[in-house]
Amino acid sequence: MKKYIVVLVSIIIIGFILPENFQMPVEGASKNDYNPKSFWYYPWGRSITHKGIDIYGKLGRNIKPATNGFVIYSGQFGLGGNVVIILGAKWRIHYYAHLQETDISSFSWVNRSRYIGKLGSSGNASGKSPHLHYSIISLFPYFWRIDNNRQAWKKMFYLNPIDYLESK
Ligand SMILES: [Zn+2]
Repeated sequence: MKKYIVVLVSIIIIGFILPENFQMPVEGASKNDYNPKSFWYYPWGRSITHKGIDIYGKLGRNIKPATNGFVIYSGQFGLGGNVVIILGAKWRIHYYAHLQETDISSFSWVNRSRYIGKLGSSGNASGKSPHLHYSIISLFPYFWRIDNNRQAWKKMFYLNPIDYLESK
């Protein structure tokens, strides 16, 4: 029994040690293609606050993962339309939504050079300009990030992607 606990704890620690090495997930996009204030923007329809950022670009542009990881899901997913969900280093989930199509299968490893899909406006982005909705969700709660904002307790889990994309 003790052996399994050691293995489990090692896996968790290794996950935290692995580097993330962020890159811009929309090929050719820059800082000018997203609104720097869109994270936690209110009001945001049924979501109430906007728990990610929207990166705009031409329809069909290639999407790459912001970090290496393991694809948990690729396909249709509710309001997100065509989505890719990747578990990356530091036990963070990366959520890519509104794709025109997904080009990766569920339960596979991806690295940053692999295309995972194409920019689109599927799901509840239908009828809007093509954009990638990108969220980072930590599986471990960051209690100290709770503030006085709306839905602030969710800030334990939703990280601002801009902090990471601009720190590389
Ligand atoms: Zn969005």
